[in-house]
Amino acid sequence: MLTAPVLPAPFRWEGPHIAADLGDHHVRFTTRRGGVSREPFHSLNLGRWTQDESGHVLTNYDRLAADLGVDRERIAMGFQVHGNEVQRRDEEPHPDDDLLACDGQATHVEGLTCLVLTADCLPVALLCEGAVAMVHAGWRGLDGGVLEDGLRALRELGGRGPVTALIGPGAGPDCYEVGPELHERFGTSGPTLDLKGIAARRLLEGGAATVHDVGLCTICSDAELFFSHRRDGPCTGRQAGLAWLS
Ligand SMILES: [Zn+2]
Repeated sequence: MLTAPVLPAPFRWEGPHIAADLGDHHVRFTTRRGGVSREPFHSLNLGRWTQDESGHVLTNYDRLAADLGVDRERIAMGFQVHGNEVQRRDEEPHPDDDLLACDGQATHVEGLTCLVLTADCLPVALLCEGAVAMVHAGWRGLDGGVLEDGLRALRELGGRGPVTALIGPGAGPDCYEVGPELHERFGTSGPTLDLKGIAARRLLEGGAATVHDVGLCTICSDAELFFSHRRDGPCTGRQAGLAWLS
C-alpha cells in the first residue's frame, strides 16, 4: 500500500500528482500513478522517447491533460539534450512543429503549459509576474547554466518582480552517487552530489528571491511513486513537471 509522503508548503497532493498554485501560477509534478502503461513503464509514463508503446504514452498525455484541466494541444515541450537553453514561447505550439533541442520552456502566454520530462534530473519551475518557465536540470544542465537561462527567459518575455523557484522530485542529496571529477567541477566532496542544493544556490545567485524544494527523492522514494533512471536503469519511464499561467 502506497502512502503519500507529507509535502512542505506550498506543495500539496492533488489526486495522484503534486501541485502548487501561487496566484496566477500553476505548477504540477506528476508521479507514476494514473496512466495506462504496463511494466516497466507503469503507469503514467510521459517519456515519448522510451521503449514504451507509443499509444500508451499518448493516452497518458490525454489523461494527464484531462486530470490537470489543461489543453492537450497547448502543452509545449522540447527535445531534451542536457544542454543549457530554454525555449522562449511567444506563440502557441503547433502539432506539426519540429521540437527544438532545448531543456526548458518559458512563456508569457496564458494557458500555454510548459513541460519537461525527468527521471532523477530536477524539474524546476520559475515564476514571476507575467511569465513562467519549467526547466530540466541534471548535472550537465546545472553546470552549463540552464537555470540561469530560465531566469533570463522570464525577463526577456516581460516577466516582472521577484522570482519564485520550485524544485520538484529528483535525485536527493544522499542518493546521487558521482565520481571525483564531478565533485571537482562543482567544488563539492563526498560519495554523492547534492543536485538540489547546487540548484538552489545557483537560483539564488542568479536572482531568484525564493526557492521551494518539494523534498522528494526519485531514487529512494517508494518505487511506485516515481520513475528513476538510477534505480531502474535505462528501461524506465519519465514523469513531468508542468507550469502555466492563468
Ligand atoms: Zn534518495
